[in-house]
Amino acid sequence: MILDQFSLAGKVAIVTGSNTGLGQGICRAYVEAGAKVVGVSRRPSTETAEMLGDENFYNVIADLSSCDVIPKVINETLAKYGRIDILVNNAGIIKRQDSIEFSEENWDSVMNVNLKTVFFLTQAVAQQFLKQQSGGKIINIASMLSYQGGIRVPSYTASKSAIKGVTMTLSNEWAKYGININGIAPGYMATNNTQALRQDEDRSADILARIPAGRWGTPADLEGAAVFLASSASDYVNGFTIAVDGGWLGR
Ligand code: NAD
Repeated sequence: MILDQFSLAGKVAIVTGSNTGLGQGICRAYVEAGAKVVGVSRRPSTETAEMLGDENFYNVIADLSSCDVIPKVINETLAKYGRIDILVNNAGIIKRQDSIEFSEENWDSVMNVNLKTVFFLTQAVAQQFLKQQSGGKIINIASMLSYQGGIRVPSYTASKSAIKGVTMTLSNEWAKYGININGIAPGYMATNNTQALRQDEDRSADILARIPAGRWGTPADLEGAAVFLASSASDYVNGFTIAVDGGWLGR
C-alpha cells in the first residue's frame, strides 16, 4: 500500500532544534508516523517532551555551536535506542546587521551552527549508517536564501546557500550506500526565526504581498515534506532541496 511507504514505524530519528518552531513540528510528525525521536536542543525541550511523551521522545541537551558535542549526541542516541535511521539538521540561527559593518562574531556564530556542525554531525551519522549497513535518511533545513540573496543577512545566506550545495556533494558520494540526503527550503514561516521581520510592519507587508498563498507558513506546513524525505517513499530522491514556500520562489 502506498501509505505504508510513508510510515516511520520502528525508525529512530535525530532532530536538532527540537524545542521550538519547525523542529518541534517535525518531532511531532515523526512520532505520529511511528518513529522514536531524539531531540537535540541547547535548553531542555520541555514542551516537546510533554507533547510527545517519554516513550517516544528523548532529549539530548547540547550546544551545536561547537562540534565537540557530536560524540555525545551519537552516543546518547545509541545508548537509548541502539541505532539511527534519520537525521534532521534543523537547528539554525540568523544574525541581521548591515553588511557594511557585519561583525566577525555574527559571521562565525551563524556559520558554526548552520554549516560546520551540520556537516560534521551529518558525517558522524553517515558513519553510523555504514556501520549498521542500513542506509538512512538525512534532511537539511535550507531556506529561500539557499536560492536568493536576502538583505542584511550575509552569513545566513552564505550558510544556507552552502548547505544546499553540500547536500548535493554528499548525495553524489553516499547515494550508493542507500543514504538519501535532501533538503527542505521553508518559505517565510511564523516562528522565532522571523519574529523581527513580522514585527516590522513594512517588511512584513512586503513579504506577505509576494507570497502567492497569501499567508505566512506554519510548522505544520513542513511536516508532509519532512515525513516524505524520511520515509521509503523518497528512496529515489537524492540531493534535492524541496521548497515549501507557498509559491514564493515561483514569483
Ligand atoms: P527557531 O528560532 O524557532 O528555531 C531554531 C532552533 O534551533 C531552536 O530549536 C533553537 O533552540 C535551535 N538552535 C539554535 N542554536 C542552537 C545551538 N547552538 N545549539 C542547539 N540548538 C540550537 O526558528 P525556526 O524557524 O523553527 O528555525 C528552524 C530552521 O528553519 C533553521 O535552520 C532556520 O534557519 C530554518 N528556516 C526558517 C525559516 C522561517 O521562516 N522560520 C525559513 C527558512 C529556514
